[in-house]
Order: sequence, then structure tokens, then C-alpha cells
Amino acid sequence: MDETDVLIIGAGAAGMAAALAAHDGGARVMIAEKGDRLGGTAAISGGIIWTANNPRMQAAGMADSEAEALAYFGSLDHGEMDAGVLGAFVREGPEALAFLERAGALDVSILPGYPDYYLDRPGAKPDGGRALDNELFDYKTLGSWADKVFGDGVIHRMMLRETPLGGSSGFVDPAELQRRAAEDLRGFGQALVGRLLGACLARGIEPQLGCKAEKLVIEQGRVVGVQFGTADGPRTVHAARGVILATGGFEWNEGLKKAFLRGPLDAPASPPGNTGDGLKLAMAAGAALGNMTSAWWVPTLSMGGAHWAGGEQRSMPVLIERTLPHSLLVNRAGKRFCNEAINYSSLAGAFHTFDPATYDYPNMPAYLVFDAQYRARYPLGPVMPWDALPDWVAQADSLEGLAAQIGVDAARLLQTVECFNTHAASAEDPDFGRGVSRYDHFYGDRSRPGAAATLGPVDTGPFYAVEIKLGALGTNGGAKTNVAAQVLDVEGEPIPGLYGAGNVISCPTGSVYAGAGGTLGPALTFGCIAGRAAARLANQ
Ligand SMILES: Cc1cc2nc3c(=O)[nH]c(=O)nc-3n(C[C@H](O)[C@H](O)[C@H](O)COP(=O)(O)OP(=O)(O)OC[C@H]3O[C@@H](n4cnc5c(N)ncnc54)[C@H](O)[C@@H]3O)c2cc1C
Repeated sequence: MDETDVLIIGAGAAGMAAALAAHDGGARVMIAEKGDRLGGTAAISGGIIWTANNPRMQAAGMADSEAEALAYFGSLDHGEMDAGVLGAFVREGPEALAFLERAGALDVSILPGYPDYYLDRPGAKPDGGRALDNELFDYKTLGSWADKVFGDGVIHRMMLRETPLGGSSGFVDPAELQRRAAEDLRGFGQALVGRLLGACLARGIEPQLGCKAEKLVIEQGRVVGVQFGTADGPRTVHAARGVILATGGFEWNEGLKKAFLRGPLDAPASPPGNTGDGLKLAMAAGAALGNMTSAWWVPTLSMGGAHWAGGEQRSMPVLIERTLPHSLLVNRAGKRFCNEAINYSSLAGAFHTFDPATYDYPNMPAYLVFDAQYRARYPLGPVMPWDALPDWVAQADSLEGLAAQIGVDAARLLQTVECFNTHAASAEDPDFGRGVSRYDHFYGDRSRPGAAATLGPVDTGPFYAVEIKLGALGTNGGAKTNVAAQVLDVEGEPIPGLYGAGNVISCPTGSVYAGAGGTLGPALTFGCIAGRAAARLANQ
């Protein structure tokens, strides 16, 4: 039987952070990853990390504090947060990032001006600072491991802050882009995962790929190892100090979704490996669960012909498209139902509106309707204004024609658009307040003043529409932990030897997506806490 001190299940962001903390805490470490490539969701993510009062803010003299962060979360808590666990995230977040930097596993800068998501709340930062962007990372330093990082086929040669997602034009000198390609410099989540992996490899920690955790080995109430399925047959690894679950969420597990989530999650944006394996292992060990109705929700667009390697439909988050001028969202009845520009995670609440009269979700799916002015200026996912229109976009010369194509009542759609246009012409939205918060402008067209960054009439044919589903970047409910990332049993006692971090646990911030990076901030922090705690609990 193989033997290690701390055994980490899942080589995503949380798992690799845990591995580094456990190693530097004096433990022998093994990471087991079920995929043939590592990095998980983090590898296709924006890589942004949200941490209050982080070292970059401190260096820049930007005011922030634990008290402000706690006031912010406190104002958003609907009873799903545990004060102690939230406090651990807020308190330990800055040191976790500092540790990863010292370990050579992180190199970040402030994402300029990226505001927190709830600017009307105490402690929110309208001018940004808490959201951190990854510096480009040199993939050549990974040698043959570079090809073992998971990807979705897109290699990011820019940092997020250079793109429209980070509030920039997206223009980088072509010669500079060529240099980055020649040197294999990568940004976004690929930079985050690349650095974490590089730091693991530098310590002799080589993730074991193709190792799927199937069962926890429990002796006298203590988790002492894991049984894996591998291409070569079953394998059991003994862990002298502890097992850390870091297997991501359950958004690709139909049964778990139906059992727990508050409403439909139709089209996840994450990779299909997030099937709730770690959640099931924790449940089988008697773990208490928290925050199970929730997810890191995001409206998504499922482009025709876009599939993962296993044939699953791929879906992309819709962020800027619903925020830019000359577009609006309507439901199946042709009515607007939300401030389209609000942050993606709370927008899900509007998608999940339930109509008791029809016993149905009238806003699922929704349709993004836009006009020729939008099409001439702005992108739709990967489709640029100069690209041919793909066949998954409906097009018609009139709104009546468009309504017929998407199966929406034409008279209602015309009425909705007319009302929207009346107010959009003066950059107002009395119905839903789009453009009131500065957050609403961030993804808009900031060459236009104030609320006009997000509001413009939809009045110039041809008209276009695409179906918008509700997806998620991951789920955020799971095994409850204490402040030391120990998984708790149903009586609230730690299950000896079992730890968790990332989307497999009940997130320290509950269902609240604090700002850009609001999932990776807690995942990295609790990864570090779990790794350190497991290494420290030697022989207990
Ligand atoms: C398009 C997109 C953009 C995003 N951008 C951001 C962003 O900018 N900032 C942010 O904060 N969040 C972002 N997110 C969300 C973020 O990426 C995830 O919340 C985060 O990566 C979760 O980290 P994790 O370590 O918990 O899980 P993951 O990164 O998903 O890693 C889990 C790993 O565990 C492995 N695994 C699963 N089951 C087993 C098993 N049985 N045995 C062994 N291994 C197993 C998986 O294969 C995977 O490699 C984004 C998500 C998407 C889809």
C-alpha cells in the first residue's frame, strides 16, 4: 500500500494550495487527480482572486480591514454563513496569499477599478482593490507538465485586466502578443494553475493523474486513507495525518442537483468533471452539509456545436453581452424581468422566479435581444462584429419576425422593447434600475457617460436573439467545516483526519459572491488552512 502524510483529492486551485501548505508545514504530500489533466475549473477560469485587505492593497495604501469585510458579508447574510468560518476566511485570506507568493505559487496585481458586487452595502469597495489578477506565467518552465494542464482550447496570452472582462479595450500590440506566444506566457486561470503547479513540482510533488477517489478508508472513526480507481486497477493510499477533499462542486451531477439546489441549473460553465465525488465521500463519512441550495450562478450561452471531449454541451458565462447598450433580456412571455447588468450570481434569483399560477419558471430560458447597433460595435461571446453570424443566433428584419423565430408573443415583445427604448434614450431604467450602480457600468461601454454605458435603445434592425440559460461557475454548498477546515459530522464534531477546501465544502461566504474572484479567494485560503492544519495534526 502507498503511504503519505497528507493525501489531497483533486488537483484544482484548492487542492494545489493545500498541497503547498501541507508540504511547507512539514508533511509528505500526495495529490490525486481523477482527470488525465489537472487544474480543474480553475484552469479555464479568469483566475481572479477576491481577498479583503490583501497584500497588494496594503502595499498600495488602499484602506481596508477585517471589520469592513465582515460588515459587508454580514449585510448580505441570510443565515447561511457561520461566523467563525467566515471570520477565518477574512482573517487568514491575506496571509494565505502572502504564503503562496513566498512559496512561488502566486504573482498577482490589483485588477484596476473592479468594484465589489454589492456597492450599496457597508464595507463595499467601489474602487476595487480586493480583486486580484494573475501576472503572465511562463509555461516553458513546466516542461512536459505544460501539456498536462487542463484547457478548453483557448490559450490566454493576455492578463484579464487587458481585456474587456477586466475593463480594458482588449487591444495589445500584436508584436507583444507574438512575443508572449513565442515564450509561451499565459494569463487568466492558466497562470494561476501554472504557478501553483510549478511550485508543487519544485517541491517534488507530482500530481498523480488518472486516480479517481472512490472510497474513504476509515479506521476507528478516523479517515486514514483513500481507495482509488485507476487504469491499472484499484489502488489504496494510506494517509498518516489526513485526507483533504478538494474535488470541486456537483454541478454536473443530475441527481445531486435535483436533490439539493433551489431551482434548475441547466447549463454549467465549468468542466464536466465536477460530479460531486468529494461531496458523496463526505456524506458517506457522516458529514454535515451546508449551503446546499446555492451555487456560483451565472447566466450562460450554449453555443451550437460547442462540446467537451466527452460530448457534454459547453456553455459560456454571459457577462458583458447583457450589460452593453442596445441589448435587453426578456422571458418566454416577451417581458423584461430584471436589471440585466446586475452581478451574475444574484441575477440567478430572477431566473428562479416561480409562478404559482402556471407552476413554472417563466424566466427559464430567457432571450438576449439586441439590434444592429449592438452587432456593429460589440462582441457576442467569441463572435466579433466582423464575423459571420453563426446559425445559433436568431435574426430577423423586424421584432415581430424575431418573436416568431424564438417563440415569444410578438405584441408583448414589441411593447417591452418600446417601453425599454423610451427610457433607454435618456439612459434611465425606472423598471429595474439598470445603470444606477457603478457596478452596472463596469462591463458596459465606458466610452459612454454614466448609465448610458449600459443603456441604449434596441431600435435598429435587423434584430437578433439568443437563448440564455441559467448555469453556474460551480456549486458552493457541501461538507460543513470548522475554522481549521476540518469536516464536521452531523453533531458538529470534526471527523478525525478529514478536511475540505474549495467548492466541495460549504463556502465560508455562504451563497455570497463578494466580488470578482469571490470563489477562488475562499478556495485558496481554505486550501492553505486545510494543508497547514492537516500537517500540524501529526499523529493525533
Ligand atoms: C469560465 C469560468 C470562469 C471563472 N472565473 C473565475 C474567476 O475569475 N474567479 C473566481 O474566483 N472563480 C472563477 N470561476 C470559478 C472557479 O474556477 C471555481 O470556483 C474554482 O476553480 C473551484 O476550485 P476547486 O479547487 O474547488 O475545484 P476545481 O478547480 O474544479 O478542481 C477540482 C479538481 O478535482 C478533481 N476531482 C473531482 N473528483 C475527483 C475524484 N473523485 N478523485 C480525484 N480527483 C477528483 C477534478 O477533476 C478537478 O481537477 C470561474 C469558473 C468558470 C467555469
